[in-house]
Amino acid sequence: MAYITALDTFDVRFPTSAHLDGSDAMNPDPDYSAAYAILRTDDPHAPDGHGFAFTIGRGNDVQRTAIHALAHLVVGRTVDEITGDLGGFARALTDDSQLRWLGPEKGVMHMAIGAVINAAWDLAAKRAGKPVWRLVSELTPEQIVALVDFRYLTDALTPDEALTMLRRAAPGRAERTAHLLTSGYPAYTTSPGWLGYSDAKLARLSRQAVADGFAVIKIKVGRDVDEDLRRVTIAREAIGPNVGLAVDANQRWGVHEAAEWISRLAPARLSWVEEPTSPDDILGHAEIRRRVAPVRISTGEHGHNRILFKQLLQAGAVDVLQIDAARVGGVNENLAILLLAAKFGVPVIPHAGGVGLCELVQHLAMIDYVAISGTQEGRAIEFVDHLHEHFRDPVRVVGGRYLAPRAPGFSAELLPASLRDHTYPTGAAWQGSATLAQLSAKEQENS
Ligand SMILES: [Mg+2]
Repeated sequence: MAYITALDTFDVRFPTSAHLDGSDAMNPDPDYSAAYAILRTDDPHAPDGHGFAFTIGRGNDVQRTAIHALAHLVVGRTVDEITGDLGGFARALTDDSQLRWLGPEKGVMHMAIGAVINAAWDLAAKRAGKPVWRLVSELTPEQIVALVDFRYLTDALTPDEALTMLRRAAPGRAERTAHLLTSGYPAYTTSPGWLGYSDAKLARLSRQAVADGFAVIKIKVGRDVDEDLRRVTIAREAIGPNVGLAVDANQRWGVHEAAEWISRLAPARLSWVEEPTSPDDILGHAEIRRRVAPVRISTGEHGHNRILFKQLLQAGAVDVLQIDAARVGGVNENLAILLLAAKFGVPVIPHAGGVGLCELVQHLAMIDYVAISGTQEGRAIEFVDHLHEHFRDPVRVVGGRYLAPRAPGFSAELLPASLRDHTYPTGAAWQGSATLAQLSAKEQENS
């Protein structure tokens, strides 16, 4: 019988701010980072479980400490005990009363819990010899319901209703799995639209995105309305009339400001407007949506738990929900959110980008397709072409579609050399000479 012997944590950072990759109106200089966790076992032949919380640099040390604080709930348990009851495991992490006080179920501690839960899913899927999307998609409706914590949800979604939805979707699973394996899942790209990019680079990368097969691109807005009008016009001209154009304000506006600003950008025919205001402002989103209709409003990448998502849906505050694989309580809580979205008939367009977020969230979208909503209609997974080369099982996006992962696990595992070289502040990427070499290599790639 194998035991968990350690929850190792690492502070991994990539110096992305040097080229303004990832820059937006709220986050001008992100260094994409992972507070990284590895669940170790005492079985030399068994795999480790890898997971992480995504941060944008400073704060990674706080996040790493929060992950470490969960060790007493993990180390010493048997692997079978955890992987055999991942619903119970997730609840054990959120129910530690002394740590729960720091949330409850939100913020740094909850993100740490998500990282450990996702590491446990990586471990479970590797042991099962399947990618996570397939492992979950092959569970019975009853087993999926058992993974979800319905506490605080039953006024909107009961376990029986979830079971009914999952059973309704079950007969089509085999056909949809086959479709995923041959045709993948739609992607959209944010690569052209970082706020720090020049107009020429925006136009060039927008044209490139269309040539690469993406049906929707997204650009960042919210710094200056005249600048945004110019940039959405450049992007629209570059992509033509038949490709979707979404914009993302990254929480920049108040409610009135959002309504006015969006009205000025609306003639560019926007696919959706993302994070117009504070992620916590449920009624504010509802008000913005009412005032700018039919422009579609979305949020969710900073949504801290399933209760907030429930209220966004109950309030009619959004047209689109954006889940993030590494902000809420792991696979389990995202299953709750996917079930809620399906109940309310709202499409989920997952947030990715960052480092490793594309790798993780593709599994969740594919679970939604095979076992929950049963459709790809009006859906696409965000894709940003940064840092995938550091992963053992990187995403494969071809012709504007994510190909289904085939390797066992959650696609979360960093290559050992990447983990070593990007450990902050001692890794080679953070030493002067190495950083310069890396930057000049990157310069060539970006030019
Ligand atoms: Mg966003």
